[in-house]
Amino acid sequence: MKPVRAVTFGKSAAQSLAGWVRQAVTAKPRIRPGDAGLLEAVKQWQQVFEHNPVMYFMVDPGGTVINVNTFGAGQLGYTAAELIGRSVLDVFFEEDRDFVRACVALCLETVDQSHTWEIRKVRKDGSVLWVRENAKTMLRADGGPIVLVACENITERKEAENALRQSEAYLAQAQELSHTGSFGWKSATGEITWSKETYRIFQCDEGTKPEIPFMLQRIHPEDRLVVQKTTGRAAREGKDYDHEYRLLMPGGSIKHVRAVARAMRDPSGHVEFVGSVTDITATKQAERRLRESEQRFRDYAETASDWFWETGPDHRVTHISEHSDTITAPAGLIGLTRWDIAPDADLEPEKWRQHRAALDAHVPFRDLVYRSKDRNRQTIYVRTSGKPFFDADGAFLGYRGVCTDVTAAIRADQAEDALRKAQAELAHVTRVTTLGELTASIAHEINQPLAAVIANADACIAWLQRNPPDLKAARRSVEWIIEDGKRAGDVIRHVRALAKRSDIEMVPLDPNIVVREAVALVQREMASHAVSVRMELWSALPRVFGDRIQLQQVLINLIMNGIEAMEGVRDRPRELAIRSAVGGDGAVLVSVSDCGVGICEQTRDRLFMPFFTTKASGMGMGLSICRSIIEAHGGRLSAAPNQHHGATFQITLPLHQEETS
Ligand code: ADP
Repeated sequence: MKPVRAVTFGKSAAQSLAGWVRQAVTAKPRIRPGDAGLLEAVKQWQQVFEHNPVMYFMVDPGGTVINVNTFGAGQLGYTAAELIGRSVLDVFFEEDRDFVRACVALCLETVDQSHTWEIRKVRKDGSVLWVRENAKTMLRADGGPIVLVACENITERKEAENALRQSEAYLAQAQELSHTGSFGWKSATGEITWSKETYRIFQCDEGTKPEIPFMLQRIHPEDRLVVQKTTGRAAREGKDYDHEYRLLMPGGSIKHVRAVARAMRDPSGHVEFVGSVTDITATKQAERRLRESEQRFRDYAETASDWFWETGPDHRVTHISEHSDTITAPAGLIGLTRWDIAPDADLEPEKWRQHRAALDAHVPFRDLVYRSKDRNRQTIYVRTSGKPFFDADGAFLGYRGVCTDVTAAIRADQAEDALRKAQAELAHVTRVTTLGELTASIAHEINQPLAAVIANADACIAWLQRNPPDLKAARRSVEWIIEDGKRAGDVIRHVRALAKRSDIEMVPLDPNIVVREAVALVQREMASHAVSVRMELWSALPRVFGDRIQLQQVLINLIMNGIEAMEGVRDRPRELAIRSAVGGDGAVLVSVSDCGVGICEQTRDRLFMPFFTTKASGMGMGLSICRSIIEAHGGRLSAAPNQHHGATFQITLPLHQEETS
């Protein structure tokens, strides 16, 4: 900044000027031609007046310029002649003219007193000239007042001041906008200076002087010690510092601030700091919200998976992050594709073709299950889901996703499958064994229609041998032959089905038909043991969904057990009751009751355990298989002693879905 030219307008200068003017104005008429010395003096003073680098104006009480020096007129871009005779107001801005009038009026009221003010003048070219005016009213010889004004050009200083004010205003504005205040701190004296914004941040009245105890009181108690340590060390070592801490505001709210300070040394070598303090509360809150939301999603993802992965645009793994405490995540995957890792890639080409098509289409995928190897090279099953991600311009960058080790679940499924198969095999074996025991019954079932066929065939021949042959009767015999043949065929087909099939075939079934077919096969067995059967079957029973052969196997088993339980019964009829009904909850109930030895409470629960038997040649597998068959149908098999004699075994089967709707 250029130094402002200093012109002193003290009282003495104004007085000497006033003396001179009075002399010039009042003395002039008394100059005579011979008074050469005086004339010379006047000329000299006129020179001084014209060219003195101070602007002089003489203004009459009406505001008309009576005289102006050449320098003064020139400063305004006029000649003296152009200004003399004009209103002095012409060189002022419109909006300043009232002020000028007031100043002139004041001068006129207070003769001989000087007044000073600063004001803008307007040059001929319209530009601004700032002046400091010193004015005084004097009385002329004739007693009339005249206002004498001396002006100093202060434009440079004013502009500098304005520029400074402007830049200070900009700085204050910028500090407010960026929530950043500035400060100075002389550590030796403890003197602190704050900018307006710093006062605002610390919520402190601008009139108060910032002091260390006040600052410490504002700092959050938990941060005070650390702040003192940081600033104390910086002051001792003369080092810059940069730290964050919290302020505890009067209302109890918390502000986060960051203070950055540069250490300097004053001329006497004392450390002083100049720095900035920024209110970073909003940033901190945004960061916290971001962190919280990231943590929330991380929690979800971590709970639902064992590790995260990321692949690049070529679908090669770029990143794996394991968060569970398992050690299953395969090692050394970086740089490989999923199908490089999976040993099932060749075995299931269609699955992998579809997966790669999804990846190439940049669409999300869910629940892809594949085989992999864990860190110990053990086979594991992995379920993965992923989503493509893109840059801000929409360019594909790769996939991100989660993986879960589902080996245990898959192994459990496999074990369950194997168990189901083994049970079906076992059921088949026991069925075949039962068939062996039923040979006599089955032979009887087939023999009956065969005997009828032969009898009818004989009859048919007899009808034909008549003269004339009784064709009508012969025809009836042949029809019976066909019927009996079909009956025998049905029995054989049924037996073959029981003997052959071990696959399960679930279909809607009428429970009463299943019961009748089973009973047909054991008819003879019952007869040979002198057991009579009583069937109490509900008409129009709803259908169940099941495997016909397996359900018949269960029934045959229960009937055979009943027959065996009544073997020792001599004192009462050996009767087997087979009932079907609909239970209270809408399920179908089928029960087999006998009046045999019965079951006691102790053995009731053990009957269904494999290898539990009370028979000399028993295997103890029958009821256990029956229960697993019924449970596989979604039903229950239970046993209960009868009130008087024997036991009742009850099957409960859920209805076929179509029946329930
Ligand atoms: P097994 O007939 O080869 O013994 P089961 O599993 O069919 O095998 O039957 C197991 C045991 O349950 C039988 O040994 C018998 O003690 C008892 N049990 C089965 N059915 C009856 C019944 N109707 N009355 C009394 N006890 C029975």
